[in-house]
Amino acid sequence: VQLTNMQTRDVEALLHPYTNAVTHRAQGAHVIERGEGVYIYDNTGKRFIEGMAGLWCCGLGFNNAELVEVAKAQLDKLPYYHLFAGRSFEPAIELAEKIKDLAPGMSRVFYQSSGSEANETQIKLAWYYNNALGRPDKKKIISRVKGYHGVSIVSASLTGLPYNHKSFDLPVDRIHHTATPHHFRGAHAGETELEFSKRLATELEQMIEAEGPDTIAAFIAEPVMGAGGVIVPPEGYFEAIMPVLNRYDILCIADEVICGFGRTGEWFGHQRLNMQPTSISMAKQLTSGYAPLSAVAINAEMADVIENHSGEIGIFGHGFTYGGHPMGCAVGSAALDIYMREDIPAKVRAIEPHFRNHLMTHKDHPLVGEARQIGLLGALELTPGGNAMFSQPGKVGAHLATRLVEHGVILRAAGDSLVFCPPMTITEGELDELFAPIGACLDATLHWARAEGHL
Ligand code: PLP
Repeated sequence: VQLTNMQTRDVEALLHPYTNAVTHRAQGAHVIERGEGVYIYDNTGKRFIEGMAGLWCCGLGFNNAELVEVAKAQLDKLPYYHLFAGRSFEPAIELAEKIKDLAPGMSRVFYQSSGSEANETQIKLAWYYNNALGRPDKKKIISRVKGYHGVSIVSASLTGLPYNHKSFDLPVDRIHHTATPHHFRGAHAGETELEFSKRLATELEQMIEAEGPDTIAAFIAEPVMGAGGVIVPPEGYFEAIMPVLNRYDILCIADEVICGFGRTGEWFGHQRLNMQPTSISMAKQLTSGYAPLSAVAINAEMADVIENHSGEIGIFGHGFTYGGHPMGCAVGSAALDIYMREDIPAKVRAIEPHFRNHLMTHKDHPLVGEARQIGLLGALELTPGGNAMFSQPGKVGAHLATRLVEHGVILRAAGDSLVFCPPMTITEGELDELFAPIGACLDATLHWARAEGHL
């Protein structure tokens, strides 16, 4: 099928009724043809600046020649092999070594293909670990409201967003959700960030006590919540949470699928946010999105228990056909080389003030309740005033995102938060371009929201 120059109407007619493009029909069908740096081009030749790095993944932009060459060379050499029965191959070993060197305290790496599979693996590791320690009842997992951890049965259960649960009878049992660390929405009147953080840690402790500490295996958290709306934890949050986890011998899983590899200005988000994980999930920027690959890294203590138990519980019977695909590992290994060579975390820190200034320019707009940011992650949360909610959540955010597309800017509305996650290679000039239409689009959306009765 030749899509070039097709009309939107024709493209919609061609799409299978269950593809995402149709599920998201409200935004219209849009066929993307090629990428270049921070830009993508559609089938009519129109250029868009990509403020979301695709789905939070293309940290190196859309046409990194080095990654493409590495992928081709690996396909020529060994297009497929696996990591079962003691077999391995160079890119898998090289990449694991690089991950271990970058992730402090981690000693083993397990590969999968997606972030959801990484988090499924995490939960099985936590259960297996407690079985190996003779604690078969210590299996419950605590996640957070608005956390995002994937869409497979267990990872969707970990996810704390209603639309991932509704109509699927999720979450499954043994998974509980504690409060979102969002000061703007969750704090009591006059409560400081520190006080709020301490209260959330107390609430977590109360949940643990109520469920029974001997039944809780792990706590899972994104250092900065992504799909929930880029929610940067308040001051002192992980500093208050960590002692609670340690007190009850609860594993701490960092879901670094978005925050990993420089996004927050450190190699991993947990380093910037003072979280001390026992294990880490990574995906997306692991290959800059160029190949489906994810990984779980675990610390030495977990590795020791998992590898050296009495044998009664059997082997860790888990692994995916495409987990650690040679092309994915080769691309991942090359992506990490580029991140290191170009010192991407330092680049993100250097451009962060410029990004923050742009976001903060809009914080007093009548439609903006809160502007928040860390590294190259940001959000403008739209409200009808103060921290009130719109009577029809999501409509105003979606309208703003659609207006921006008309101006050649791709951003995403997470509910009524306009979220930002541009490629980490973006320049100041390109950031200026990304932000250029935002003021006018906010004004137009305000006008529309008034006319439609959202305000
Ligand atoms: N964890 C986080 C933090 C994510 O943002 C995502 C995807 O957006 C996932 C897990 C799931 O990854 P995947 O879509 O590759 O299954």
